[in-house]
Amino acid sequence: MPLMSSLSRHVFYPLWDLKDGRHCLRDLRELERSQWLPMEELLSRQRERLGLILRYAAVHSPYYAQLFAKCGFDPANFQTADFQALPLLTKQIIRSRTDELLSREFQRSELLEHRTGGSTGVALAVYFDPEWINPRTADTMRSNQWAGCFHGMKVASLWGNPPLPRTLKQHIRALLIDRFIYLDTLDFNDRSVGEFVRRWRRGKPEILFGHSHSIYMLARYVIDHRIHDLRPRGVISTSMMLLASERAVIEKAFACKVFDRYGSEEVGLVASECEQHQGLHLNIEYVYIEFVREDGTPVAPGEEGAIVITDLFNRGMPLIRYQIGDIGVPSNRRCSCDRGLPLMERVIGRVADYLKRRDGSLVAGVSLVERTLTAIPGLEQMQVVQPAAGEIVLNIVRAPGFSAATEEALLAEFRSVFGFGIDIHANYVERIPQERSGKYRFSICRI
Ligand SMILES: [Zn+2]
Repeated sequence: MPLMSSLSRHVFYPLWDLKDGRHCLRDLRELERSQWLPMEELLSRQRERLGLILRYAAVHSPYYAQLFAKCGFDPANFQTADFQALPLLTKQIIRSRTDELLSREFQRSELLEHRTGGSTGVALAVYFDPEWINPRTADTMRSNQWAGCFHGMKVASLWGNPPLPRTLKQHIRALLIDRFIYLDTLDFNDRSVGEFVRRWRRGKPEILFGHSHSIYMLARYVIDHRIHDLRPRGVISTSMMLLASERAVIEKAFACKVFDRYGSEEVGLVASECEQHQGLHLNIEYVYIEFVREDGTPVAPGEEGAIVITDLFNRGMPLIRYQIGDIGVPSNRRCSCDRGLPLMERVIGRVADYLKRRDGSLVAGVSLVERTLTAIPGLEQMQVVQPAAGEIVLNIVRAPGFSAATEEALLAEFRSVFGFGIDIHANYVERIPQERSGKYRFSICRI
């Protein structure tokens, strides 16, 4: 490990932790140990913490006091089925009843506020108590370690609106501890990527981190420009669905493994791949995760379900059975790494990414992209948009090898999936623009 990484990890980071009165490193050591506990023990601890946050919410959050009373739910004595019968918390409820959700134990000014844009473009404000950040930073650090990324290492990060240091304190911290070089994904072009590669060569980051599709775009650039000297130890991909075909391109470009993970601004890190890459380990020390059908019943392992999360640590604004808006698949397989943390198979995408057939049935747009992009030659990138019930537009970036047969094969595939009554056409574009957050979406349903 380079000297500066070593100093940062062993000297500057612990000192800074101490100075800010934080205990991330203590929490990290505990997590390094607990990951090897038997699953049954981890599940029983999770169940205990679930009871704690439910009892806390009943006392301190007027919203939950009222809800539990209305449902006849007793947080001091309940069965799992009682908990699973509680109504889901939606984004709409968070927006309209923010005040009642907040804990009376804190002044609003004491809480950390986080605003997210969300797919609808409507802002959602979530609040955290000041203690929340310690354990949640620690669990991110543990997942980073699975990818070979130890705190203090230099990281190349692809992000929208990257948090650049402004104050003197932030500059010092950036120099000694949070050692990032950034590529702003909202300004992704040959000039900015060329400059990023030059900074990479000077700074030699050990880890590449960012939005899955942005990493893929960088990987394409690296391959197209025959660049062979960007060699991180690992790549951490997050924030959106990672296509299998994109993973292969990234691993080829950087000659190392991709570690995929799933989380959100509202509840932090939820699941991450370990070095065995057999699924994503659920972060059950900090979150309680359910996968539910449309009728509210839990799905079976291997079946798609809406992801519902209870944050076991956020006392500032308890989020209990929060319907995050994503779809995922739980698993009952065990990972060969022997960690006690259960697995989920994968994240399918957002609920909003599902396209609709004439009969009302749903199709995961991202799966269609995944299936066609690699099977049909001549396609570089694709995005599926459904602006109206009877219309689907395929935004396509052509690759070498594109021909009339490409379009024919693609449209035939989509028509076979959607049947008659839906007009499907191709729209050729130079590039597929990102969302304001800097993320890309493969599939957008506007109905
Ligand atoms: Zn594992």
